[in-house]
Amino acid sequence: MTIHPRIGHGFDLHRLEPGLPLILAGAALDHDRGCVAHSDGDVVYHAVTDAILGALGEDDIGQLFPDDDDANRNADSSRFVAEAVLKMRGHGYEIGNLDVTIILERPKLSPHKADFRQNLSVLLGCGAERVSVKGKTHEAVDALGENRAIACHVVVMLVPDPQA
Ligand code: MG
Repeated sequence: MTIHPRIGHGFDLHRLEPGLPLILAGAALDHDRGCVAHSDGDVVYHAVTDAILGALGEDDIGQLFPDDDDANRNADSSRFVAEAVLKMRGHGYEIGNLDVTIILERPKLSPHKADFRQNLSVLLGCGAERVSVKGKTHEAVDALGENRAIACHVVVMLVPDPQA
């Protein structure tokens, strides 16, 4: 059976409120606020999970890990990515490349990008050269630009795993 590359897109957004931790791609950032969420609120890992699940045509993150399930309360979101990666392997795919865009006004992401790429490449089982992370501000416009929310877009290309 011939299997072809598959593309997926993931998007996530969380409100930011004072006194909560800000966790992005598994890294805790110093900030005056963090994500309101049932889990640890990691928008990057949530969008990555949905991008992979979308590429596979599987149920999405909300169906697999419902936010009314106590098992997911304050969950380390790397668990969601790991589950998506298991499904990816089960379908005979590996990461071709992954492109992440994080939208937030503050703090600056440039000091953290190398950590984000490293965490993602370990979790996804691929080289860091296959992972791109970009940060964008929202030019002070709307909730994203007013430091009241954070969003993330991810596009992933899955390619047939030669080991499968
Ligand atoms: Mg989320």
